Amino acid sequence: MRQSFHFIFLVLISICAFYFVKVDSSSLPLLGKTIYLDAGHGGVDAGASYKDILEKDINLSIVKLLASKLENLGATVYLTRYGDYDLSNIGVKYRKKSDLYNRAKIINESDADIYISIHLNSTNSAYWHGAQVFYDDVCDENITLARVIKASLGTEREVSEITTMYFNRLVVIPGVLVEAGFLSNSGDRNNLVNEEYQEALVDKVVLGIIDYFSM
Ligand SMILES: [Zn+2]
Repeated sequence: MRQSFHFIFLVLISICAFYFVKVDSSSLPLLGKTIYLDAGHGGVDAGASYKDILEKDINLSIVKLLASKLENLGATVYLTRYGDYDLSNIGVKYRKKSDLYNRAKIINESDADIYISIHLNSTNSAYWHGAQVFYDDVCDENITLARVIKASLGTEREVSEITTMYFNRLVVIPGVLVEAGFLSNSGDRNNLVNEEYQEALVDKVVLGIIDYFSM
């Protein structure tokens, strides 16, 4: 009698353990993954702008939303900047280069599996619109990550390989640059300043990241 009680107890414990492991892996698909998020620009460098709408602010807002959603799915997330500043060394002659170099350095020195850099586009023409994913071929995985995020974003703009972006060339772990839309286009601009739109955009990026890690 005592033995059968022990047996039933062990079976119950096993069922519970199985259940929790199963729930863990399905509700936390990014458990064990480390992701570095980079909000472009910051501080004296506003990036693109339209009147008082600054790229640096929207980049940071999107990155913070993305960080929170990724963490809720189990990922460990680091940000290159958490506020309105850049990473350049004080008093350097080439501030922009120093900023980008230091961003790449902290990502390379981390244990991150991937990085996502968030920027906004802008051109002289108000015609161009839509999100676009850019990648450098410095890592073989970059084109794959770019394609899955492009697909989850549902953007018509094709992924684009660019090997002249100083920051993306320096980073030696897989990653992409997402231009979330054009500040120079009124439709995109109205969307990008809207938090609900930012949330929806971030949800799509998250799905792309999950897809990438499921491959
Ligand atoms: Zn930018």
